[in-house]
Amino acid sequence: MPARHAVAVVIDDAATQRSQEGGADAWWLYVTEVLGHARVPFRSLTPDEAATPPDDVAVLVFAGPPTLDPAASPGFERWVRAGGTFVVVGDPGPLSAVAGVTAGGTVDDGQVTILDSPVWSSRPDVGLHAVGGVRLTPGEDVEVLAQWEPTDEAGAHPAAVLRRLDAGLAVTLGIDVWQSIVRIQQGYTVDADGAPAADGTAPIDDGILKCEDGMALSFEHDRAMPPGEPELTGRFEHTYPPPSAVPMFDQPHADLWRSVFLQTVWWAAEHAAAVVPWLGYWPAGVAAVAHMSHDSDGNVDEHGQAALDAFAAADVEVTWCHVFPGGYSPDILAAITAAGHENALHYNAMGDADLATWGWPQIRAQYAWAQAVTGTEDIVSNKNHYTRWEGWTEFYTWCERLGLQIDESRGPSKQGSVGFLFGTAHVSFPIADATQGNRYFDVLNLPLHTQDLAWAGHESVRDVILDGAEAVHGVAHFLFHGPHLHLRPLTRAACVAVAEEARRRGMPWWTSRQINTWERGRRGVTLSAEASADQDGWVVRAQAADAIPSASVLLSLPGLDANAEPVVRDGKGSARVVTRHGRYFVELEVDLVAGDNNWTVALSR
Ligand SMILES: [Zn+2]
Repeated sequence: MPARHAVAVVIDDAATQRSQEGGADAWWLYVTEVLGHARVPFRSLTPDEAATPPDDVAVLVFAGPPTLDPAASPGFERWVRAGGTFVVVGDPGPLSAVAGVTAGGTVDDGQVTILDSPVWSSRPDVGLHAVGGVRLTPGEDVEVLAQWEPTDEAGAHPAAVLRRLDAGLAVTLGIDVWQSIVRIQQGYTVDADGAPAADGTAPIDDGILKCEDGMALSFEHDRAMPPGEPELTGRFEHTYPPPSAVPMFDQPHADLWRSVFLQTVWWAAEHAAAVVPWLGYWPAGVAAVAHMSHDSDGNVDEHGQAALDAFAAADVEVTWCHVFPGGYSPDILAAITAAGHENALHYNAMGDADLATWGWPQIRAQYAWAQAVTGTEDIVSNKNHYTRWEGWTEFYTWCERLGLQIDESRGPSKQGSVGFLFGTAHVSFPIADATQGNRYFDVLNLPLHTQDLAWAGHESVRDVILDGAEAVHGVAHFLFHGPHLHLRPLTRAACVAVAEEARRRGMPWWTSRQINTWERGRRGVTLSAEASADQDGWVVRAQAADAIPSASVLLSLPGLDANAEPVVRDGKGSARVVTRHGRYFVELEVDLVAGDNNWTVALSR
């Protein structure tokens, strides 16, 4: 029997096709990546099916512009009033009357303050950067959940509202959550230098095309000083090491949008007394992880040895990105592998050698070179030297062809762009543009947060990055270079210190390969949960493509509190209450086998 998931998503295939044929991206497709990463199970409904939702759907998400006319489908409002919740992302259109709100003007780019409400279990304390959306004009009986910050052209306007209809709810998120997440993570097409920060902290107009040149976040609105550091006075001189701390991208805006959407779904499900399972991002008991990488710039043996020593002192296995041309001596290369580090590519398109330019034949040649010098056939990870980038997503097609399954190029090259420059501490699958049907690339994006601490990045950024990754249950990524570990005692000390600090917080250090394997394993898991036949617990199922040890199956249960004592009645595993995204969940710690897995979970009393 197919699982009767409590969450349903409406994607209008005809609207998607119309949009793409007109050259416009169907951003709403990204709902499948947001739910897919969390492994929240959902059923898909056509617009026709959504007109009369099945009674066992608790939360109905209109990911794109709704076409449903409730006047012609009275069953829809009956379903809401009987206890259903619908969530509209964007303009509610024909659902305006039921949603209790109409769309005013559109917003291309703005800041949204999430207001205090029981809907939110973890409310961002900064304005979130939104790309696309509508201002909302609410009716009388609605609660405003979020508002657009006033601009020179417009005053404050509601951005998200809640209407209660008898036992049901209508939530309108006027923000284009999907476009916001994609633009913040993937940026815009890189074909020219971006505009530098006005304060001199990020001179990205350096004549070298790189990830930052397409960034969607704003130097002016989306940065803050690390806590306790004095504000900048006068114009900042961009030298190494930085003479002082500078403003940094302190919040992962894209992850916070993901969280806003997921919190909406969980809260609505709880309201309907429905159980929604999802899969913890990391193994049971682990709330966030850390990742350290090393770039072999220069390929000097002495520097490589200094890096080996530093990582041994830090007790971290790193992802070692090898840059063409040259390479270390065979002894150093063997020592890197023997120490458990991951051999990866550091694709060079800086024009400083033959084959060191941007292009498919060049990366193909460098990949073969890295395989040869490291003796590693299955290189799965890459980082681009200097964070080089051109175009929007063509690079990912090269990765697909080579078998590069995870790329960690997207990060800062300047002091003033350190932190969550691309708004995320999570791995994600990038989306292609409309000309490719907005398909997903089979390459994970692993964000980079800072280069060498106490050299390229002021040391005060360290805890902000760890805090931010921890808050959204993601991965904090620190990059080091051998020459700095060799020549600069402060950077070497910072490398060892950040390793200890992450471990102190319970964040294990994982290589890019480990993160890739784990995430791809997670993506092969489909969960379901429903009340048990005796109504005294919940039957939880997981279908897994591959075995996953120590998986974290999370259950959003109605009325759960910190003192609940969950027990596993049937099936192998243990259970406890954990906090994720500010909410309580029952965490089942289980070793998933490939195939079917079943448990019955109850709260003891
Ligand atoms: Zn490099």
